[in-house]
Amino acid sequence: MARMEELFGINVFNDAVMQKRLPRETYKALHKTIDDGRPLKPELASVVANAMKDWAIEQGVTHYTHWFQPMNGVTAEKHDSFISPREGGRIILEFSGKELVHGESDASSFPSGGLRATFEARGYTAWDPTSYAFIKDGVLCIPTAFCSYGGEALDAKTPLLRSMEALNKQAVRVLKLFGRDATHVTSTVGPEQEYFLVDRKLYDQRKDLIFTGRTLFGNKPPKGQEMEDHYSGAIKPRVKAFMTELDEELWKLGVLAKTEHNEVAPAQHEMAPIYSVTTIATDHNQLTMEMMKKVALRHGLVCLLHEKPFAGVNGSGKHNNWSMSTNTGYNLLNPGDDPASSAQFLLFLTAMIKAVDVHADLLRISTASAGNDHRLGANEAPPAIISMFLGDELTAIVNSLISETEYHSAARKDLEIGVTVLPKFPQDNTDRNRTSPFAFTGNKFEFRSLGASASIADTNVVLNTIVADVLMEFADILEKSEDFKATLHNLIVKTLREHSRIIFNGNGYSAEWLEEAQRRGLPNFPSTVDALPHMMDQKNLDLFARHGIFNQVELRSRYEITLESYTKIVNIEAETCLMMAERQIFPACAKFAGEMGRIVKDVKACGVEPVAEMKLLQKVTQRNAILFEAIDKLREAIRSALHTPDALANARYEHDVVIPAMEAVRTVADDLETLVGKEFWPFPTYDDLLFNV
Ligand code: ADP
Ligand code: MG
Repeated sequence: MARMEELFGINVFNDAVMQKRLPRETYKALHKTIDDGRPLKPELASVVANAMKDWAIEQGVTHYTHWFQPMNGVTAEKHDSFISPREGGRIILEFSGKELVHGESDASSFPSGGLRATFEARGYTAWDPTSYAFIKDGVLCIPTAFCSYGGEALDAKTPLLRSMEALNKQAVRVLKLFGRDATHVTSTVGPEQEYFLVDRKLYDQRKDLIFTGRTLFGNKPPKGQEMEDHYSGAIKPRVKAFMTELDEELWKLGVLAKTEHNEVAPAQHEMAPIYSVTTIATDHNQLTMEMMKKVALRHGLVCLLHEKPFAGVNGSGKHNNWSMSTNTGYNLLNPGDDPASSAQFLLFLTAMIKAVDVHADLLRISTASAGNDHRLGANEAPPAIISMFLGDELTAIVNSLISETEYHSAARKDLEIGVTVLPKFPQDNTDRNRTSPFAFTGNKFEFRSLGASASIADTNVVLNTIVADVLMEFADILEKSEDFKATLHNLIVKTLREHSRIIFNGNGYSAEWLEEAQRRGLPNFPSTVDALPHMMDQKNLDLFARHGIFNQVELRSRYEITLESYTKIVNIEAETCLMMAERQIFPACAKFAGEMGRIVKDVKACGVEPVAEMKLLQKVTQRNAILFEAIDKLREAIRSALHTPDALANARYEHDVVIPAMEAVRTVADDLETLVGKEFWPFPTYDDLLFNV
């Protein structure tokens, strides 16, 4: 155990290290900067940079990098060494305050959407002192935000920092009205990360896994997840070794890796960290995904983070557990048990309900990607329609407020806000509805629509901003009120009445829910191309502008990038599908048919009628003919792809024409897989991939 404690944060320039290594005054000043979100003084930066460099060099580090999160979902780094030339051909090791605080980067090599045309190609990175520097692969990494010279956000971090500030501002206003002395509120996130592990040697034989991260062909194995014996079952030794090493690597980086377990599907697993401030959780989730991939390779495994690596078995998501906490140590979504805090809790809960109802479109949009389209709206939890699960107890409270009737529970208390003690409901109160996209789980909301491979930044920008927006509206009303209690009561009741349609505790898979949701007027965007156009709705432009998160150009650039990336992904999949079908599957089936033909001839020569062999030969050649046609159609679909300036039209084409063409190829190829002898099949099948770790 002592070893674990020593290991934790060993590669992080964290508070303890800073306290030890920085002059007292510098440490205090830096803290003040971080706590108050103020810009760093240059003198201060030099001292910090120097201490950071000395600390890093002692650990054998030679290079540093500004570590940032461009809009392609992954992290970027450009390594510079500490060396600086001196007379006589000597060098010294240097790291200036300026180098710590500010870096230049060629923005043109990262996606920038419309911003590229509008602004110059250069971008700069700026140190985010709220996130600790760390050492990864012998390089000192400085977490930074990435902007254009005009200040437009070119990354995932900048809007996230802006949204944290917006939430802080409005939540503190509301808390003040309740007489709280909190001066700072942050959102907190614990992202549960799902992933698959497959054997490296098998992976290497599948072009689809290599190029697209998912299988484009393959039938569900005889045994899938129906026995429910994988979830939290015993962990196999090779996976266990992987998890142990992953934990160690993450602990070294200060990531609070906590829970490791098997998931529902065979070969699927999950890692959940202990929650932290959203910006940190976002950085750490990026590091987690990177480490999962790296560590897997060391064990002869490949970690698949794709949302749907295998058809017919569960895909991988990320559960974004979200709450808000004060610098005085309170979780604002904790129902609590004193009267004042229950009124306060009800107000924050009401704000969440309104935020999710009014901006369900944005939450859906924030999770939209080509990969995640295979989960959301594709008969897998959760559905594409955003709704909220509150559980029986909380729903009963909401309903009694709406109807202004008495709340009947075991505790039986009148619900007059402000004087009422909320009944203490058990934290794991109900059956934990697993189909709901947005579920209250005792003292936080769990948003389950996120894709496994995506950065959690976009979703949390939306969550922070929409909650900030409603809190702003509430604070505006309450601050003006002469009778706080009455205004509060009316505000909660009125808001719940207007927005309770978002609450749904039933089965999100059912056909009835589809109809019911439509009747309630809840948006249903089954795919990325259905969802994305709404990003630019006036409501959303206004929302982001109001809180200084995105201006119109910034939002537009994100819209374009998401659609461009969708188009590129589907196109790569289509090209890979074509290549595999044309050069691997068709020839393999032809070869099998040839072999069958020889068998038919040989058997006939013995004077026996090869009835079954003939039938099989016919089946295979008929299907191979269909495959051949489907291949032609797919080739044509790829060739005719749109390259218009309209990103949405291009993406729609992929969705409407290319994906169905790929599906047609897959359907017949999967059928052939069941007919053609195993030794003829050109690559490992699902039963190999899913049961060989
Ligand atoms: P389950 O798998 O049942 O959904 P887990 O225990 O695996 O639950 O994950 C719950 C996650 O929620 C953990 O990452 C945990 O740290 C996080 N969490 C707990 N409290 C909060 C909070 N106040 N804010 C954000 N996340 C939280
Ligand atoms: Mg969960």
